[in-house]
Amino acid sequence: MLEVVQIPVLSDNYVYLAHDAASGETAVIDPAVADPVLAAARARGWTITQILNTHWHPDHVGGNAGIVAATGARVTGPKGEAERIPYIDRAVGEGDRVSVGTSVARVIDVAAHTAGHIAFAFEADGVLFPGDTLFALGCGRLFEGTPADMFAALGKLMALPDATRVYCAHEYTQANARFAVTVEPGNAALAARVIAIASARAQGLPTVPFTIGDERATNPFTRAASIVELGERRAAKDGFRG
Ligand code: ZN
Ligand code: FE
Repeated sequence: MLEVVQIPVLSDNYVYLAHDAASGETAVIDPAVADPVLAAARARGWTITQILNTHWHPDHVGGNAGIVAATGARVTGPKGEAERIPYIDRAVGEGDRVSVGTSVARVIDVAAHTAGHIAFAFEADGVLFPGDTLFALGCGRLFEGTPADMFAALGKLMALPDATRVYCAHEYTQANARFAVTVEPGNAALAARVIAIASARAQGLPTVPFTIGDERATNPFTRAASIVELGERRAAKDGFRG
């Protein structure tokens, strides 16, 4: 089984260690920076053997150089933007498999936030790393893709089982919640979740991971009925000052 450790860095990024106890292998997902990640692994007696990058943005690959220099870790990233992934060894796309010891991720093409964005789904472990595609009550901004691209990407992620734990790359939940309640003011599940989110944040606790089932019930972007509706909601959120 995969053990996941969450490392908060920068203003709102989460970097993750995914450790396979059976083999001792440890992967890091989307290292924004190197030093806190190396320290977190060292504190557990783990050696980072792999880096998995979901997309090229600096807050997802900024630690590649330092971690490769310190550990010799192999870098796996999206083939659609391989030239922008520092130290990439293996470029992967839709349907490829990435092993971390005995745990296996299926690569899902979720191009929308960036043109080559991928997600890593460790399906046997019930764990998803969606990068900046799916957030709690939100989705990534469309920097390089269209509403149709994001509609397709979210559809693939929402096909995963409800119990899947989602480890996204940012703590954006409270801002997302302020927008979500304007879209579905009558959604009781959303209202209850917003209270739980406020309570967690008031205690300094993360709201990540969450589950695919949580999003199915409350996320205005995964719940959009059409590409047009998703595009309208994305545009409204971009201009929203809650
Ligand atoms: Zn990004
Ligand atoms: Fe990001």
